Amino acid sequence: CTSAPTNTAPANAGTDSQAASSSAAPSAKGKKVGVAMPTKSSERWIRDGNNMKDQLEKLGYAVDLQYAEDDVQAQVSQIENMITSGANCLVVASIDSSALVNVLEEAKKNSIPVIAYDRLLMDTDAVSYYATFDNKGVGTLIGKYIEEKAGLKDGKGPYNIELFAGSPDDNNAHFLNTGAMEVLQPYIDDGKLKVVSGQTDFDKICILRWSQETAQKRMEDLLSGYYSTGKDVDIVLSPFDGISYGIAAALEGAGYKVGEKWPMITGQDAETMAVKNIQSGKQSMTVFKDTRVLAAKCVTMVQAVLEGKEPEINDKTSYNNGKLVVPSYLCNPVAIDKDNIQKELIDSGYYKQSDIS
Ligand code: BGC
Repeated sequence: CTSAPTNTAPANAGTDSQAASSSAAPSAKGKKVGVAMPTKSSERWIRDGNNMKDQLEKLGYAVDLQYAEDDVQAQVSQIENMITSGANCLVVASIDSSALVNVLEEAKKNSIPVIAYDRLLMDTDAVSYYATFDNKGVGTLIGKYIEEKAGLKDGKGPYNIELFAGSPDDNNAHFLNTGAMEVLQPYIDDGKLKVVSGQTDFDKICILRWSQETAQKRMEDLLSGYYSTGKDVDIVLSPFDGISYGIAAALEGAGYKVGEKWPMITGQDAETMAVKNIQSGKQSMTVFKDTRVLAAKCVTMVQAVLEGKEPEINDKTSYNNGKLVVPSYLCNPVAIDKDNIQKELIDSGYYKQSDIS
């Protein structure tokens, strides 16, 4: 499950699945799949939804694709509707991963298999499989990027750093934070990285719903509260491109300029705006998660559960949702900076040059 060498359907997604094939599976006839996505406010979920719909329809499934605009109750209602309108399988990327327990219990009572998409569904035994990326690995990539580019291994520093984490109700946010902090904590401990605000606990640095506006506000508060006396922030650990935009806006508002003391800012998702920002120097890196590959993997899970077969999984231990360890397939994330945009994002067919220039 690494990033793709060819155009819209990556070879490595298609080899162990038929998801990229155009021939309809006879078993798909008359079967309906409900796909519940969190929001259209960030590019990745739009791509995820479109990829799922296209790949499932190619196999002959009917697809009910719904977005809930980060409204937890709306997502519950959408899933209820999918159940009552006869879905045979549900694919769910949750908004609040613990808020779907009752509606998923309903799915279970109706013998509808549920697959968790990208975000783990917590506190329920009504989930059969989980298709995602290596979420801790995303954090490791971010941490290692900071470690390498700041020269921390060579003893460089000290640097002033501020930390951001994703939404506390999203299990991925915790995994990412763990991966990043495993790399960075030793440098905080030995003083090479100084968290000037002192805010390191997850509860202090998390951003509900991964909101750009909330991140901007927090960064503004950090700058006015801790950096107004001639101190500069050198590095900002951001776990999502949307959060990075908020951080950048706050920095601009405080007089920071790209090219002059502009800090290193990380990100996640390789959104087109983030890739443009990497090219202009406003953002340093992002983490690319090839949504074509994830969708292809998830489609093989849908097919398998509907045919009573076992899908391929590659992780049986990492994702305990409080009720069971969910059998998972973890795809590989890839760190992107200005040096590999062409190879990973353009040559792989994920973006056209015009999308990012
Ligand atoms: C996903 C990330 C995404 C974030 C915000 C997480 O659950 O894994 O790819 O950046 O949600 O949408």
